[in-house]
This record gives sequence, C-alpha cells and structure tokens, in this order.
Amino acid sequence: MATPVTYYCPHCETVVELQREGYLADKSVTPYPLEGWNYVPVEADYAADDADGVRFVCGSDGSARDPGADGCGKPFYLSFVRPGTTDAGAAVDPTTRPK
Ligand SMILES: [Zn+2]
Repeated sequence: MATPVTYYCPHCETVVELQREGYLADKSVTPYPLEGWNYVPVEADYAADDADGVRFVCGSDGSARDPGADGCGKPFYLSFVRPGTTDAGAAVDPTTRPK
C-alpha cells in the first residue's frame, strides 16, 4: 500500500510529494548526491532494488505537491536507508563526509 510522503526542497522549501511503500526508510534530503549512491528520477521505479534514492528537479519533474508551484529548478536528492546500508548511512554524517 503506497502512501503519499512529502519532502521540502532544501533550496527553496517547495513541497514535493512521492508515493512511497512503507518498508523504505528515509535517511535524508540533501542538495547534493551522496557519493556512490544510485539515484533515479521521480518517474522511474524508485522502489527498485538498485535505487538508493530519488533525484528531484525542483518544480520541473512533476513532483511538486502544488501543481502551480514553480520551484527553483535545482536538483536535490532523497536518500533511502535500507537494512545493511550502515556504511552508506555513515556517508551522510556531516562529520565523516569527505570534502
Ligand atoms: Zn527548490
């Protein structure tokens, strides 16, 4: 059963919405991709096994909750957490992230 989940663009706070299955947990929304993670566009199958997250393009990929929202046109990234991804999860810790 998919449920709508909303996120804020980290650049301009436009609200976007995804239909999500309950078993995926969210790690973070960031304005940059995490190194080594595989992001898919919102129109792709982001529940697929090889997808580590979703790449939004604010206001231009159809994900804005308000269809009239312009967005800022910048990409941002939703990263999932899944069982066994503790190393990848560590990559989003700002104290350990490489410059
Ligand atoms: Zn934005």
